[in-house]
Amino acid sequence: MFKKILIANRGEIALRIQRACREMGIQAVVVYSEADREAKYVKLADEAVCIGPPPSAQSYLNMPAIIATAEVTDAEAIHPGYGFLSENADFAERVEKSGFSFIGPTPESIRMMGDKVSAKQAMIKSGVPCVPGSEGALPEDPKEIIRIARTIGYPVIIKAAGGGGGRGMRVVHTEAALINAVQMTRAEAGAAFGNPQVYMEKFLERPRHVEIQVLADTFRNAVWLGERDCSMQRRHQKIIEEAPAPGIPRRVIEKIGDRCAAACKKIGYRGAGTFEFLYQDGEFFFIEMNTRVQVEHPVTELVTGIDIVQMQIKVAAGEKLPMTQRSIQMRGHAIECRINAEDPYKFVPSPGRITLWHPPGGPGVRVDSHVYTNYFVPPNYDSMIGKIICHGDTREQALARMRTALSETVVEGIQTNIPLHRELMADAKFMEGGTSIHYLEGWLAQHHR
Ligand code: ADP
Repeated sequence: MFKKILIANRGEIALRIQRACREMGIQAVVVYSEADREAKYVKLADEAVCIGPPPSAQSYLNMPAIIATAEVTDAEAIHPGYGFLSENADFAERVEKSGFSFIGPTPESIRMMGDKVSAKQAMIKSGVPCVPGSEGALPEDPKEIIRIARTIGYPVIIKAAGGGGGRGMRVVHTEAALINAVQMTRAEAGAAFGNPQVYMEKFLERPRHVEIQVLADTFRNAVWLGERDCSMQRRHQKIIEEAPAPGIPRRVIEKIGDRCAAACKKIGYRGAGTFEFLYQDGEFFFIEMNTRVQVEHPVTELVTGIDIVQMQIKVAAGEKLPMTQRSIQMRGHAIECRINAEDPYKFVPSPGRITLWHPPGGPGVRVDSHVYTNYFVPPNYDSMIGKIICHGDTREQALARMRTALSETVVEGIQTNIPLHRELMADAKFMEGGTSIHYLEGWLAQHHR
């Protein structure tokens, strides 16, 4: 096992990874920007090195500075967390070429899944069902594009092969609008992602977002740890996640989970990963794979009792997965609310000093957050300041615990989205379960326009 790991991230996930290291008796080195000097995990770390000014391009995305820090501190491995360099194949390659272990999949896997066209092709080959669409990237010939759209049937969605973070997508309802939409998406994709390739999919009108968590080792063992429902989204950004997904028959989930584990074996995947699907009318359709730990991993940890971050570290150190598919038991239900420093209804970021932080507690309540009273939320990064995750024997109990947890939570000095979460946890449709990815935006338009 590694003796020392460098954490190339910030915020709650830097603290989460540090906790996993501590439990495993591994020393943790953190890198931080000048804006994060006061962060709790920086003070708690075994070693902490400032790698640059606040803008991430000069700190958390600065590959030479991160690798040099690993060298001077004698770290053996680098954990990239999520966001920043976590899905950057060139970074993974440079880490490995410099003699460190990258806690994540191989650069080849990251590259394959980072291009959504090649990811879909790999999935089709591995027997994972995909959204009906173009075979690979769209050709240049407008006549051919029109023919493809007619075969798929309107509405269609044009998506950038290199897209991410909910950007680089355009829905098309009529043939008259098609060619223009393709050209615009190409131009935007070229400018934003350096790759003008686009592809076409059937646009699903009322799907749910349901994803499968996988773990794989370097001995071609792979398991899946159940599913998460992440349909509560605004502008393609998740804000509430839960496990299991309400109302989907277990045999349907088991079938898709087994396919995902088989696909991992087929492509030689290693580490933690997530297969993202749209689920509609009893069917799963693959949209993309995330090759890293996700924000919402705790809901899976609470229902399976498996520490996903520790598993990432074990697999990266060359250990075999300690569990088999049959040994994985799902117990109860878990819900996560992402707490963001923002106006709860206008979503304008609200950085600044937290004058009072009182987190919730009690049975089945987990809080993953790096903030504290007098902490200054820097304006330079994502607005998420933490996550409240509640577990119960049933979904109803998890919801009741979340309502209590949210009512106990006090954050003063900045605005947060806690009032929005309080309303949603008492919303009749959400309480029923199974809302589609469009539900939250419709709800907001109705209640808080
Ligand atoms: P990104 O990498 O930018 O997150 P995804 O391919 O995961 O892109 O899609 C993000 C979101 O866009 C999905 O969660 C869903 O809300 C919507 N979306 C993507 N493809 C489709 C589709 N074919 N039909 C309907 N909605 C879609």
